[in-house]
Parts: sequence; structure tokens; C-alpha cells
Amino acid sequence: MLGDFTYCNPTRLHFGKNAMSALTEELAKYGQTVQLIYGGGSIKRNGIYDQVIAALEAAGKTVVEDAGVMPNPTADKLREGVKIARERNVDFLLAVGGGSCADYAKAVSVSMNCDDDPWEKYFARFEEPTCEIIPVGVVLTMAGTGSEMNGGSVITNHEQNLKIGHVFSTDVAPKFAIMNPEFTYSLPKYQMVAGIFDIMNHITEQYFSGTDDNTSDYIMEGLMRGLVKASRAAVANPEDYEARSNIMWTAAWALNTFVGCGKAQDWEVHMLGQAVSAVTDATHGMTLAAVALPYYRYIMDAGLPKFARFAQNVWGIDAAGKADEQLAAAGLDAMEAWMREIGCVMNLAELGCDESMLETLADATFVMEGGYRKLTREEIIAIFRESL
Ligand code: NAP
Ligand code: FE
Repeated sequence: MLGDFTYCNPTRLHFGKNAMSALTEELAKYGQTVQLIYGGGSIKRNGIYDQVIAALEAAGKTVVEDAGVMPNPTADKLREGVKIARERNVDFLLAVGGGSCADYAKAVSVSMNCDDDPWEKYFARFEEPTCEIIPVGVVLTMAGTGSEMNGGSVITNHEQNLKIGHVFSTDVAPKFAIMNPEFTYSLPKYQMVAGIFDIMNHITEQYFSGTDDNTSDYIMEGLMRGLVKASRAAVANPEDYEARSNIMWTAAWALNTFVGCGKAQDWEVHMLGQAVSAVTDATHGMTLAAVALPYYRYIMDAGLPKFARFAQNVWGIDAAGKADEQLAAAGLDAMEAWMREIGCVMNLAELGCDESMLETLADATFVMEGGYRKLTREEIIAIFRESL
């Protein structure tokens, strides 16, 4: 049975090859000074920066540059961004990039008008904004996180070995997102595949919970089937527009909070993966890929009917003559074969982890409730060991 829920998603999407043509009009709705947030320079190499600057100029905006947002944006970088926003009294934050830039922009947006240290207030103490929120817009260049259409923000504090996500209210979600699938053509394959597994795992985190008959689960099965098909096509031909557009659209659906409505949710794979990023700074999607199968195989018995359903409805495995245990295992085997086929990282050793780090990783892991099992510390260590 669906639990009660209220749903609202305020992000206006402009999707497709001509999506950028909407940027000037969107910017016109907001104030004069725009903090232009981007990463390490990919947008200068692929021409997206020039298109964004042209739209900002056409809208007559004063541009304040804030470059160098790193993957897994840090608390220190966030403090710098807040300083820039305050000094230049910006009216709008435009993030051009992937989830890291979008997450960072949201964290700046709730911190500019607030005296507290942003890491302490939002990521250590999980407080809600108590000051004016600066509006955010996104020009998306990487499909994966869904950050373009949600209120989530994940910030990393390497000194404390912590990577923490705060899911803010819809007031913090981007006002608009420009989503041109062609912008993702220039992604290195490693990043494309990391994004694809992030999408898959956002769906499985919400799918592997509950025993009820729930419309959201049927929607998620369709999203997962489409994602698997599109991922194969995009790996074969990175400029397959149909595949890249389906991947970008699936990413938004996977985490615009829609499919989680009325459902219990797990999110333990993200907690394990975020611990790995906190300690190693590894790429988000690949940290998830390295731990997901050991985790799901570990908890499978506690959610057997759902894992058996996953095998049939997502991977097309014939149930005839098979017990639920066999079906469930076959479903995870099929997911493993797909992950290897598209090029996911399949273990933590490849991300620089070894046996000596297991306690540190466990210290960095938050334990979630809502999935089929709540892990103990010993179980977390066992899953990390199995992932090595
Ligand atoms: P990302 O960290 O934003 O970007 C990864 C890399 O891809 C960067 O090096 C970037 O280079 C490059 N890149 C991006 N677009 C490119 C393009 N079009 N061509 C060439 N290179 C490109 O990746 P992400 O996976 O989208 O974001 C990861 C962060 O989001 C993590 O911190 C993760 O924990 C968080 N996250 C948030 C949510 C949420 O709901 N808010 C959900 C899941 C994960 P440049 O820096 O040079 O641009
Ligand atoms: Fe994620």
C-alpha cells in the first residue's frame, strides 16, 4: 500500500537539442548579478561555456565567476563559494556542470545569507535553512545524479572523513534546468558509466524496500529496463542521441523524488559509497558500483520476493521451475554481467582501498533504516571486505 505523501517538484525543465535557447529568458526572471559556477574546465573545452556566456550577455547580467568546483565538492570550497556570493552580493547562482556543481550551488544558496559555518549547520547538524535562499539554475553537462531536479546537496569533508548529503526542501531545488543530451557527448566513458550506475542505484535504493503492491515499483522497473537498453547503445556509440537523451531523462526521473513517493527507501549503498568517496575521493558512481553487489547479495534473503521480481521484470529471467532463491540470485548475476559489460568498477581495490582501511571506511558509514536489513558495524565491515 502506498503511504501518504505530498508531492511538488518546482523545477522547470528545458530538454533537447535547443534547450539552451531558453536560458536568456529564464535568467531574465532573476536579479542582476549571477554567480557562474563550474568545474575544472570541461565546459571551456566543449564550447558550453561560450554558449552560457552568450546567454548571460544577452540577458544583460553581471557575471561573477566561481570556477574549480571539484567532483565531490568539499566543505572548504563551499566556504569559498559563500564568500564570493557575499562579497559580490549575487542574486542568482547558475551551475554549469554535473551533480557536483549543482549540489555546490544549492549549498551556497542556503548559506549566503546565513552567519553559521555551512558545513556545521547543514551537513554536521542537518539544520534547515533559516535565512533567505538564493535561487539556483542548472545547465546540465553530465547525466547521473538527478541534482538538476531535486533539493539534494552532497558535500565532502576529507579532514573528517565524511561525505554527507542533505535533502533540502523544494525551495532549494533548481528553478530551472537546461538539459541538452548532446552536452554529454564529450564525457569520458568512465564518467558516463559512473553516471549510468548512479542512476541505476538511485532506482534500486528506492525499489528494494517494502513487500506491497506499489505503482512506483512498476514505474521503476520500466525505468531500469530502458536504462539498461540505452546504456548499451551509448557505450557502443557515445553520440547516439536517442540513448543519451533516454539516459538524461531517466536520471531526472530516478531522483526527482517522484518514484519514492509513498515508499520506504533504503539508501545504504549510497552510505557505503559515500564513505568510500570521503576516504579516497573516488568517483561517486563507481564507489556505488564497487559495493552494490556484495550489499545486495548480503541482504537478498531478507527481501527475497522483491529480488525475484527484479530478476523477472527487469532482467527478463524465466521463472519456470525456479525457486525464489534461484531467481533472486540470477537477477543479481544479470546485473553483474551488465555492469561488467558497460565498464563499471567492480571492486574497491581499483579505487585504492585495501584491508587496512576497513575500520576507517566503517567509521565513515551511516547506517540507514528502511531497506530489508539494518546493518551492524560488523556487517558493514564484512560487506566492505567482500567488495575489495
Ligand atoms: P561531477 O562530479 O559533477 O562531474 C564529474 C566529472 O565529469 C568532472 O571531472 C567534470 O569535469 C566532468 N564532466 C562533466 N560534464 C562533462 C562533459 N560534458 N564533458 C566532459 N567532462 C565532463 O559528476 P556527477 O556524478 O554528476 O556528480 C557527482 C556528485 O554528485 C557527487 O558528490 C555525488 O555524491 C553527488 N550526488 C548528488 C545527488 C543529488 O541528488 N543531489 C545524487 C547522487 C550523487 P569538469 O569539472 O572539468 O567540468
Ligand atoms: Fe548518487
